[in-house]
Amino acid sequence: MGSRQWRYETWGVLAVLLLCLILPWLGHAAQAGRGYLLVGAATDEPTPQRACTPQMLAGPRQQALVPAPAGGWSGQPQAVDVFNVFAGEVQLRHGDREVCGTMHDARTRDSRFRAGVGMVVVPPAGSAEPVLVSWQTPLKPGWVPTLRLGAPSPVQQNDTARLLVRAACVAVALALALSALMAYLSTADRSFLAYIGGTAVIVLWQATLGGLSGYPEPWLPVGNDSVVWVVGLSAAVLALLLPALWRLNGGDRLLPGLRWAPRALQWALLLLAMATPWLQRGPLALLVSVLQAGFVIGCVVSLLAGIWARLRGDRWALTGLAALGPLLVLIGGEACALDWLVEYQVEAMQLSVTWVLMMAAYALNLRLGRLRQQRDELRQLADTDGLTGLPNRRAGLRQLSHLLEAARREGTPLAIGFLDIDLFKDINDRHGHEIGDQVLVAVARALRASVRAQDEVVRMGGEEFLLLMPGLPGEAATARLERVRQRIADAGRSLQVEGLAFTASIGLAQWRGSGDDLAALLRRADHAMYAAKREGRNRVHDGERDDPVAAA
Ligand code: GH3
Ligand code: MG
Ligand code: MG
Repeated sequence: MGSRQWRYETWGVLAVLLLCLILPWLGHAAQAGRGYLLVGAATDEPTPQRACTPQMLAGPRQQALVPAPAGGWSGQPQAVDVFNVFAGEVQLRHGDREVCGTMHDARTRDSRFRAGVGMVVVPPAGSAEPVLVSWQTPLKPGWVPTLRLGAPSPVQQNDTARLLVRAACVAVALALALSALMAYLSTADRSFLAYIGGTAVIVLWQATLGGLSGYPEPWLPVGNDSVVWVVGLSAAVLALLLPALWRLNGGDRLLPGLRWAPRALQWALLLLAMATPWLQRGPLALLVSVLQAGFVIGCVVSLLAGIWARLRGDRWALTGLAALGPLLVLIGGEACALDWLVEYQVEAMQLSVTWVLMMAAYALNLRLGRLRQQRDELRQLADTDGLTGLPNRRAGLRQLSHLLEAARREGTPLAIGFLDIDLFKDINDRHGHEIGDQVLVAVARALRASVRAQDEVVRMGGEEFLLLMPGLPGEAATARLERVRQRIADAGRSLQVEGLAFTASIGLAQWRGSGDDLAALLRRADHAMYAAKREGRNRVHDGERDDPVAAA
């Protein structure tokens, strides 16, 4: 079965590689001898910036007049860039110039501004006419849009830097999701799937919040429903964030009876998120206030849980406390209405949530490492004989089957020796069970010492051992087993027990080629061992000599 799967995989990979080679030939062939590449086409569209219509400016709005400096404008170009407006049209007006643009469609914006909606005007020198800026009233009370005024170049640089930070946060989240996908494919641990799902929601939230959803063209169907998208995705992100913070801070371990609570909160928030398309502006505004309060309470509760867990010696809670750091800055900064936080609100939110994603990935990998270590230890325990430290029957048979597969594949010889200590019952009877155990340990040590590194020694049970000798042809195998037999006979002396002597009988069998299998090989070795017993014990019997088939 294994080899069939191997074949399918190999052919599958080869087919994909072939496709990779063919694919480029299917595209348009390049024109020979051209000196440049012209892409795109001439346009008959007017400039994409839109003048405002009454529909664009419908609904509750706020406005600001950016005043000219004392003494009037200088006559130089002035850039005005408006940030942190998530929903609706931003209107900019000066003199006879007026534009409208939204964050969710880059085509409606002056392309020199990417993280905000901006405009460049050239007010006549000495004029004192202010620049009018208006925007849809934010749902969140206390939410303050930021207007940046200055020379076009530095304003654009600041704008581009902000876009880069926003895009970088999305890129980091996507990279974490991809790495979780690789981890899932190699471990099949379902917690990685949950992580990928959560990260996908966070990427959508980041894209909607930062306007990347409309860049370079809208790739999310946000349209005119940006309020719904931002509120709905915020609720969904909180549904993931708050339970994750609680768990990262050791809440589940601290109060195992309350395990249902984060789950219930998660479902409630997800249901609210799904209900947002049907909510009017009033209930949506209420929901935003509830989400804000829930976010603050959730972070504080997780913080208390983390501190408590840490004081009780929970090592893992440290990751949760670290995850909370930037979120606490966000909460504190908002309470104090810090200017830089108001200005870089979107970037701050994206960065702190990306940080939580990183901490969650770290915690997930720690947990997986721990599980793997436990599994390895259990497997080691299950595969090892407690008395001699040798691989036990189960591990030995698995090893033999691997060796058989290799011999079949490579056509190399494989010899096995079945060894049974002679009259072991008498040793037990005469010297006691404890000395019997010491004999078994001494035999195991002698066996290990008299085989090559690539050979395997297995305790099959009781006083029976199996030697696996890959690549050893018949003559050499017989000689080696003869040495093993002698060494065991000598091992009795090292125990320094009065009157103690022991020997072993060994049966040799060799793999006979493709028609042979594991059970038959073991059976022949066992029969050969009994033949050695019958012939008087303390000897090696070559099972392949008895059977005419072997000679053929
Ligand atoms: P033969 O030469 O025909 O193999 O005789 P024998 O006495 O070695 O064979 P038999 O199968 O009659 O006895 C094996 C004994 O091994 C019986 C059992 O009590 C003992 N034995 C099995 N496992 C252990 C063990 O872990 N420790 C000790 N001390 N004795 C064990
Ligand atoms: Mg026996
Ligand atoms: Mg025996």
